[in-house]
Amino acid sequence: MSTAEKATRVRFAPSPTGALHIGGARTALYNWLAARHDGGTMVLRIEDTDLERSTPENVAQILDALRWLDLDWDEGPISQVGRANDHAAALQKLLDSGAAYPDSATAEDVKAWKAEHGADRGYRGTPSGDGSGAIRLRVPDDGDTVVDDLIRGEVRFPNRSYDDFVIARNDGSVLYNFAVAVDDADMGITEVIRGDDHLSNTPKQLLVFEALGIKPPRYAHVPLLHGPDGKKLSKRHGAASVQELRDAGYLPEAIRNYIALLGWGPGDDETLLSTDDLVERFRPEDVGKSSAVFDEKKLRWMNGRYMREMPAWEYLEAVRSFVEAETGGRPLNEERFEFGCRIVQEKAQTLREVWPLIRFLFEPPVQDDKAWRKVMKGEAARVLTEVEALLIGIADSGEGPNHDGFAIEAVQSVLEPLPEKLDLGAGKVFQPIRVAITGTTISPGIFESVAALGREETLARIEVARSKLADQS
Ligand code: GLU
Repeated sequence: MSTAEKATRVRFAPSPTGALHIGGARTALYNWLAARHDGGTMVLRIEDTDLERSTPENVAQILDALRWLDLDWDEGPISQVGRANDHAAALQKLLDSGAAYPDSATAEDVKAWKAEHGADRGYRGTPSGDGSGAIRLRVPDDGDTVVDDLIRGEVRFPNRSYDDFVIARNDGSVLYNFAVAVDDADMGITEVIRGDDHLSNTPKQLLVFEALGIKPPRYAHVPLLHGPDGKKLSKRHGAASVQELRDAGYLPEAIRNYIALLGWGPGDDETLLSTDDLVERFRPEDVGKSSAVFDEKKLRWMNGRYMREMPAWEYLEAVRSFVEAETGGRPLNEERFEFGCRIVQEKAQTLREVWPLIRFLFEPPVQDDKAWRKVMKGEAARVLTEVEALLIGIADSGEGPNHDGFAIEAVQSVLEPLPEKLDLGAGKVFQPIRVAITGTTISPGIFESVAALGREETLARIEVARSKLADQS
């Protein structure tokens, strides 16, 4: 065999009846990995034959999602509807060879036939003399159609129980399974990797290949994704679209890594594998038979790991667009913005989480009453008095993000010993500072937060909190 004949050709064939969801993205990724692993070809085919539900907006969204995930294709997008002439040619070929025939039987007639022959006997029709009726494919009476699935192993379908099924309407418009098989044949697809909801379509598609006299591709039916509750993911149940994940602040490389591991890989879903690793290791036959669980919590965790590893400039630029969406693009102090982003790079798990964590640096704190009640009691007033005195004592060396002496180390050196000095737990000391300067109990590290906010603003906010505390007692 020449290398040209061996070359892997895969396709991703979404129906543009909605956005690209996480399950579809995983199918796209597996196809893409199979192609890149072998130096093969990825074809993008848009299965737009459902004219009522397919829309150009959905096509655009799917392409956009694939591009964002960095899953590039080598051929296409090819519209299935646009291939009507090719489908007609294949249909004619089967009519000419007698592998397909027009049958004028109505649904009632088929029912009557089945009543006579037994319900599990596949319908066999009679060619209409005048060419009227739907076009059916002849299914042999004997033997099995065998799907030798790369993942599921051998799955047998007895031909006897399959109807001579309709492949085209009388107006020449073709049906789904016929179009898919003709397209896969014409495009020289060598491996079909798709969701196992399509396994039941495969015998019909194989029968079309057989009738066309063309060697079929290998099939790899990937188990569908389930949610953490064990239920199948669907558009109505927990299946986030790629666009939603992007807007939620996930990174494409983290999504690629995480969804690759759903059903494939070293056995857990926490392994960090670069795209190069994935390409090198992925083989469709290694995908597991059991369904995998998409757990957004795990994706979050993995995304956090990827965010930490991002080069500083890349991380800043990625965060910036999320922040601009929140602030309406009003200008922020750039130095403070960069410093703020840096101190939460290890903490935030999504790009969207960054702004809520650093917002206090640019706006007066919005006091969370629950946090206030929880923290601002007992020793809090005494703590804040001590803290204020210590911070005032930091010399204005010009160091630090605000050039006022409040460098992280300087702040740390005065605040770190305080719990011991006051004989209080760390929380009792640092939470009141946190609530005073951010309004909440959640913030970046306290030394970093104080340094980022700077001398003037930190002391002003502590002063406000102290007088509120005094009023309260
Ligand atoms: N268009 C089908 C879908 O979106 C995929 C068909 C296939 O991969 O063969 O579910």
